[in-house]
Amino acid sequence: MTIELLSSFGITASAGAHLVHSPIDGGEIGRVAFDDAKSIETKIARSAQAFRIWRDVPAPRRGELVRLFGEELRANKAALGRLVTLEAGKILQEGLGEVQEMIDICDFAVGLSRQLYGLTIASERPGHRMMETWHPAGPVAIISAFNFPVAVWAWNAALALVCGDSVLWKPSEKTPLTALASQALFERAVKRFGDAPMHLSQIVLGAREAGDALAKDVRIAVVSATGSTRMGRELAPVVAARFGKSILELGGNNAMIVTPSAKLELALRAILFSAVGTAGQRCTSLRRLFVHDSIYGKLVPALKTAYGKLAIGDPAASGTLVGPLIDKQAFENMERALAAARSEGGVVSGGGRALTQQYPNAFYVHPAIVEMSEQTATVCHETFAPILYVMRYRDFADAMSRHNAVPQGLSSCIFTTDMQEAERFIAASGSDCGIANVNIGPSGAEIGGAFGGEKETGGGRESGSDSWKAYMRRQTATINYSDALPLAQGIEFDV
Ligand code: NAD
Repeated sequence: MTIELLSSFGITASAGAHLVHSPIDGGEIGRVAFDDAKSIETKIARSAQAFRIWRDVPAPRRGELVRLFGEELRANKAALGRLVTLEAGKILQEGLGEVQEMIDICDFAVGLSRQLYGLTIASERPGHRMMETWHPAGPVAIISAFNFPVAVWAWNAALALVCGDSVLWKPSEKTPLTALASQALFERAVKRFGDAPMHLSQIVLGAREAGDALAKDVRIAVVSATGSTRMGRELAPVVAARFGKSILELGGNNAMIVTPSAKLELALRAILFSAVGTAGQRCTSLRRLFVHDSIYGKLVPALKTAYGKLAIGDPAASGTLVGPLIDKQAFENMERALAAARSEGGVVSGGGRALTQQYPNAFYVHPAIVEMSEQTATVCHETFAPILYVMRYRDFADAMSRHNAVPQGLSSCIFTTDMQEAERFIAASGSDCGIANVNIGPSGAEIGGAFGGEKETGGGRESGSDSWKAYMRRQTATINYSDALPLAQGIEFDV
């Protein structure tokens, strides 16, 4: 199946020292060669050259290339979605959803290509006009994580391309095949477009050393890095040391507050999708649940019953809701977190390996619910697995303060029909996260809004709203159309 799928993109992926495994059964699905320092250098130089041409192409024309890419994605959605399932282990619906996100951001970027608005600003000097213009920034490096192997690149690339930048993509070393397939579709769009510069979008394959090489290089104007907070802690100082710009999309520790007035049916469905979807491997996965004391006895048992019925298995099979973890290390991290939570007084339901006989080389797990009396150190840490920590609350202000008392600040939500609680949750003194939802789970954001989070999540914003500005440089230009040379601030400087 893999060979057929890859060949539909014109890829073989059969040579190279790096083996690619499918989390579905642990089997090898391809081999790729990593870039070495010399080839990374060549690619950066080519990217800089492509940028010099692309920045002068009118933005609506740049949008046409992204429109064509969106068409390629539409035509190949099923195949790319299947490849995402195979390589990242997401259920097929989520694999297809990820490609849909790529299509959506292309549509958004095409519209944006006619709207890269600047400002006209009133000048204090007579006969002067002042304006603010947005210019292309330069080559953009995109470093992406395994769990959104293609959409995160598209969020960045579609915007960067209409903004006039070239792109260099270093995908996760765990998911290089979906990257090669996406690039192949992009190349088809380039061919139809006709006169795009060569090497406008390139892939750099490798592990963290390859990401580090991109982060260090002064020719890379923007480094957009998605991954763990550990990665961001290492990468951000490297980019900052050369005064480069970075967009950081790092770990989350997302919460939901369920209040007495909540529609419990809706809350239950939202909890299930966001806590066990993608086997808990979304940056926006629900990890902490605060339930009001008065409804705890109703909601938590219902949740446990629903967990007991979850279809765990082959993510390509219809009906499966929970696929595998990405690898053994992810499973060991989950085991370690559950042991730590137990030692901190947590009561664990679920957890442990599933389908071991059927898939001895893959890592399927039973999603876990852990009832905690305190928000302990383990709860404050992001474990990238389906572990949901459940805590009681009595007082709304106390729930709000515990909600915010973690280092991460990505996504958050409240289930309530009480208008005051809903408003307090999204007010300045409410959730401190980049995303705050009312009666919606924390995961599954729409591309129209700016996506990202605060604190250890890194502060970056991608996708919709005015996130495009991060891929451009701002210029303030003042024109004097008078016959005099008045100085700003009324300064007299006569010679
Ligand atoms: P990871 O940090 O292990 O790797 C992410 C990427 O960074 C990979 O391409 C990796 O090769 C590269 N990398 C690692 N260390 C680096 C370094 N020092 N310098 C340069 N590049 C480096 O993350 P992962 O396991 O692939 O993904 C899971 C993590 O990503 C979770 O923490 C999750 O919350 C986070 N994530 C965040 C978002 C978001 O938008 N905030 C989205 C998806 C995933």
